[in-house]
Amino acid sequence: MTKIALVTGGSRGIGAAISIGLKTAGYKVAANYAGNDEAAQKFKAETGIPVYKWSVADYDACAAGIKQVEADLGPVSVLVNNAGITRDAMFHKMTREQWKEVVDTNLSGVFNMTHPLWGGMRDRKFGRVITISSINGQKGQTGQVNYSASKAGDIGFTKALAQEGARAGITVNVICPGYIATEMVRAMDEKVLNERVIPQIPVGRLGEPEEIARCVVFLASDDAGFITGSTLTANGGQYIT
Ligand code: NDP
Repeated sequence: MTKIALVTGGSRGIGAAISIGLKTAGYKVAANYAGNDEAAQKFKAETGIPVYKWSVADYDACAAGIKQVEADLGPVSVLVNNAGITRDAMFHKMTREQWKEVVDTNLSGVFNMTHPLWGGMRDRKFGRVITISSINGQKGQTGQVNYSASKAGDIGFTKALAQEGARAGITVNVICPGYIATEMVRAMDEKVLNERVIPQIPVGRLGEPEEIARCVVFLASDDAGFITGSTLTANGGQYIT
């Protein structure tokens, strides 16, 4: 039977590559997004993947959005928590709003999406929860106290929930990408990229969104049934834990 996968922030950047990767692997995919209608409609037209707009920071919107996806496609058995934002500032200048927005999206968003789906996954005795954290959640990053804290929280969330899901046939894993060549990173000053960023990466290049998508496709597969509570780093050797 075709499995249903739901990817948050699935219409742009790494999320778009994940949605396409899962579709190519045979899943029926739904891509959630927050507000960029133009990018979402373009993605839908190009890929045929349906898009659904709600904020992962809003629990009730997540519950309603998931209900709609399941009415349209069927029960979701693979959840990819990919949606994430940055609001960088040095800590002494960081506002409460910058802290809250990032934690609400990157950490509470993972709770808000996983919680409404958990009961169904338990009942059906199968589920895959895969969250996209970050290298900066592992090592910390200047100017990103909010982001690093939220992404480290995603790792703790995964380790605890994996223990609860194991007997119910649900695996829970987290991926920590390093620098990935999304629009945002490609838009960086070329000199900064070539002289400051890339030299920190032992393999000597940025990662590609498809390389993260392939990690997700593997963790979602039956072949990965013995892997749970795991942190998969994909960072070109930049930070080795
Ligand atoms: P992008 O900024 O390219 O895309 C982010 C996606 O998340 C968009 O689809 C956006 O929707 C969606 N989104 C943002 N806020 C919300 C929200 N509240 N509710 C629902 N969707 C939301 O990000 P990337 O592809 O670069 O990053 C994807 C993930 O990977 C993030 O979690 C990021 O932290 C992580 N990551 C990225 C790295 C990189 O180098 N790029 C490195 C390490 C981790 P919309 O299109 O509507 O704006």
